Amino acid sequence: MLKVHNLITHYGSSQALFGMDLEFGTGEVATLLGRNGMGKTTTINSIMGIVKATSGSVKFNDTELVGRASFKIANLGLGLVPEGRQIFPNLSLRENLVATASNHQNNSGPWTLDRVFDLFPELATRQSSMGNLLSGGEQQMLAIGRALMTNPKLLILDEATEGLAPLVRQKIWAALKQIKNQNMSILVVDKNLRDLLKIADRNFIVERGKIVWSGHSDALRNDRETLHRYLGV
Ligand code: ATP
Repeated sequence: MLKVHNLITHYGSSQALFGMDLEFGTGEVATLLGRNGMGKTTTINSIMGIVKATSGSVKFNDTELVGRASFKIANLGLGLVPEGRQIFPNLSLRENLVATASNHQNNSGPWTLDRVFDLFPELATRQSSMGNLLSGGEQQMLAIGRALMTNPKLLILDEATEGLAPLVRQKIWAALKQIKNQNMSILVVDKNLRDLLKIADRNFIVERGKIVWSGHSDALRNDRETLHRYLGV
């Protein structure tokens, strides 16, 4: 479904990605792991066209994404839950969801407000609350719901549970598991390795802008040297 090949990205004269390669299939959960500043967000933003890649290729179901505008990439079926959530503060929770609702790929059984509220019942009772009055957990659930309302085929989450209380984190992981079981492909960045590995099919470790290790969760759990060397655990 997604195939990133030799992706190189610069910020001005400073190079952030040094030939990123990763690949995963439909219905899979893939993770991007790595210490701070290694290039996870840059990879995601380069895939989404938010940051312009210098060279390389990102194929989404055989369609080349590099060089396309980010709204066109989103319309192809990539939904982003950005780092920091970026909820519209002066719209209500319900308006935040309605604002992005679309189905450019004509998916069958599209996401609706009711489906989002089934996934996150906490949101149903807060529909008229303004975005800036929601808790961090509610905002993250809303950010996921908002991405789902675009009916993506691939959901990308940058820091899925950052700064959230343990109970809220568990709700987010449970929701992602539920979405995965509905055959959604997911690319996720998070620091919570233990929870992440439970839902992941493939894992990619980023070190200084390139992949230094990739493999299945069991292989990573048992590879103490890799865990220590690249993730400091
Ligand atoms: P974190 O977990 O801290 O978000 P990350 O793995 O997502 O880290 P990136 O944010 O992609 O890493 O950063 C990769 C490199 O690019 C770092 O050296 C960072 O300083 C640099 N960088 C990121 N954003 C910019 C920017 N807007 N301008 C210049 N350099 C940047």
